[in-house]
Amino acid sequence: MTRVETRTVLAEHTTLRLGGPARELVVAETAEDLVAAVRAAGDRVLLLGGGSNLVIGDDGFDGTVVKIATRGWRLDGAEVEVAAGQNWDEFVAGVVEAGFGGLECLSGIPGSVGATPIQNVGAYGCEVADLLTSVECYDRRTGEVRTMTAADLGFAYRTSVLKGTDTGIVLSVRFALREDGLSAPIRYAELARKLGVELGVRVPAAQARAAVLELRRGKGMVLDPVDQDTWSAGSFFTNPIVAEDVLADVEMPRYPAEGGVKLSAAWLIEHAGFGKGYPGPGGRVSLSSKHTLALTNRGGATTADLLALAREVRDGVRAKFGVTLHPEPLLINCSL
Ligand SMILES: Cc1cc2nc3c(=O)[nH]c(=O)nc-3n(C[C@H](O)[C@H](O)[C@H](O)COP(=O)(O)OP(=O)(O)OC[C@H]3O[C@@H](n4cnc5c(N)ncnc54)[C@H](O)[C@@H]3O)c2cc1C
Repeated sequence: MTRVETRTVLAEHTTLRLGGPARELVVAETAEDLVAAVRAAGDRVLLLGGGSNLVIGDDGFDGTVVKIATRGWRLDGAEVEVAAGQNWDEFVAGVVEAGFGGLECLSGIPGSVGATPIQNVGAYGCEVADLLTSVECYDRRTGEVRTMTAADLGFAYRTSVLKGTDTGIVLSVRFALREDGLSAPIRYAELARKLGVELGVRVPAAQARAAVLELRRGKGMVLDPVDQDTWSAGSFFTNPIVAEDVLADVEMPRYPAEGGVKLSAAWLIEHAGFGKGYPGPGGRVSLSSKHTLALTNRGGATTADLLALAREVRDGVRAKFGVTLHPEPLLINCSL
């Protein structure tokens, strides 16, 4: 079934609680309706899952917003096919409960399953690319539905060939889970410490999920309507990947990465003078009081306020370290 709403304020559909009106919002509850809605929308279309990785301008979106509200998953042995609009964390909780491992480190990430391949979501040493086998995708350029394998999706750190294009609409996603109910090898030092194990060890998936959720809550990274530290889009900046000799003389966290080394955006922000809770214009936005990498709406903010703070942080880091931070969320009808 499809529902159409007019004069919807997009702030009601984003975790930042920001964004002006949409010309039209169509809610699609089946894959067929989703394809039909996208076909009917023409050129000006914005796909919306949980709105947890979107910064939408105060003028909103002068086109059709298609809200993906398909639900459910189907297990076939350790293979699972999930509808794009399914809430991600409900799905992770469900498969962990059913005794499957592999996705537990991605517990607590807000949003929908269909959005996870878009930026290859990741946390605590894992990313969806580790277990994703393929997606069913409606290609707006050809008007056809096709299967894209993990290789077709061109996964890299927080990106894929689909990010920022809106040409491929993910209808469903397939994962190959671990049948033994154990986690993927623990690769993240903070998580290993929390679990009291060495790096590389595998633990029961449910145990890893519980530890991840606890760590994330402490950083304001699990949505909570009464905690304004979670009124964010998660990490606002990606960790910059730079050549190995950049800032080599400064003692800071550095991780091996394809094409150089990955620096910690949170460390750079903090050491450029922007501590936890650093306020933006009028105190209506601020860095999260639990994590410097999340920009948060403290109530009554506009997207312009948020972007002013983002610019101040980006420019401050550039002035101090000569490294330019790039936003992780998609910016719609606004720019940094
Ligand atoms: C508190 C918090 C913590 C977070 N933690 C993490 C984290 O640990 N790791 C991480 O990687 N991310 C994290 N995020 C970011 C975000 O949750 C993920 O990127 C998530 O996958 C976005 O899902 P969504 O359904 O909300 O996408 P939306 O914000 O609705 O959409 C994001 C983009 O994907 C497009 N899109 C959505 N669905 C589809 C589809 N089916 N087909 C094609 N395009 C589509 C949209 O058009 C948009 O361009 C966090 C966000 C918050 C608020």
